[in-house]
Amino acid sequence: MTPSPAGPPIDLRSDTVTRPDARMREAMARAEVGDDVLDGDPTMRALEERVAAILGTEDALWVPSGSMGNLIALCVHLERGDRFLAPDRAHVLDQEVGTAAWLAGGMPRALPWTAGPGVPGPSDITRAVSRGGPYFALRDRLLCLENTHNAAGGTVTTPAQHRRLTDTAHEAGLLVHLDGARLWNAAVALDVPPAELAAGADTVQVCLSKGLGAPVGSVLAGGTEFVREARRVRKMLGGGVRQGGILAAAGLVALERAGRLAEDHEHARLLAAGLADRGWKTDTPQTNIVMLPADDPVHTVSVLAGRSVLTVPTDDGVRMITHRDVSRRDIGRALEAFPPPG
Ligand SMILES: *Cc1c(COP(=O)(O)O)cnc(C)c1O
Repeated sequence: MTPSPAGPPIDLRSDTVTRPDARMREAMARAEVGDDVLDGDPTMRALEERVAAILGTEDALWVPSGSMGNLIALCVHLERGDRFLAPDRAHVLDQEVGTAAWLAGGMPRALPWTAGPGVPGPSDITRAVSRGGPYFALRDRLLCLENTHNAAGGTVTTPAQHRRLTDTAHEAGLLVHLDGARLWNAAVALDVPPAELAAGADTVQVCLSKGLGAPVGSVLAGGTEFVREARRVRKMLGGGVRQGGILAAAGLVALERAGRLAEDHEHARLLAAGLADRGWKTDTPQTNIVMLPADDPVHTVSVLAGRSVLTVPTDDGVRMITHRDVSRRDIGRALEAFPPPG
């Protein structure tokens, strides 16, 4: 008999699948709005000021997505033909349709994970940066970090590692952009304020639509001058929105929910531990992403889908992400749906 968990599907494909709850929808319905492209939207401004305060930057700009936030940062930082460095398998390298190259004009260089999964070491930066060289040598302009590192399995960069990387980059004459789509998860896992993980980065992108549960939106933070330029590039890319306060209101509610990510992390650990009990080999997750090595990921994913557990195949396994719409009970039901390893 195939175990078949009762109830609606358990969606572990991503933490982006969460739906706004009644409280969030209510805040959206009541939001005070203006025209953010014309002369400003008060709720948008409140959200941007709030995120700038949380991250310890001069200013911040709401953007429709994390991908657009990263792209705007790269467009502002890079000139056509400049090179940027990023940890191997970074989102900005592999998951953004190559826009870093074809829209921002950046030549990418991937850095190895010398300091841990998803985390390069300072010497990887110094080794990669070209010093002088002939006129046709690339100009290294930017280091793009990612915390947590998605493809490495939601792994964290500690404040000390982050500081060493940003110091090394600045000494080498690079700017630093931090893709902090899940910076909230890193902050909760490390029990430090998000500002401590943003310190030293020139610009930071954070997502409101992942674990925090907003339906739309990211924020791009940095200095006043940078944000002024970023606003122009956002408009250029078609990302200026009018009564955006409706969306920003959801973001403000989302920000109140960073603390509960600890629960997602606990659920991810429970899931991994349960899988280990069932004979699967998997590392203890650092945050809310479980990477399960599997011989035939597509087959395993399809078996699970047939049992109402939705997951994502990767090159070498199955990826599962916990979030606010997955309960402890759901984790138990998901475990029952797992076939034996192999
Ligand atoms: C999801 C994600 C993004 C992009 O966010 P979207 O809102 O989906 O465009 C960027 N970086 C990382 C690490 C992510 O996980």
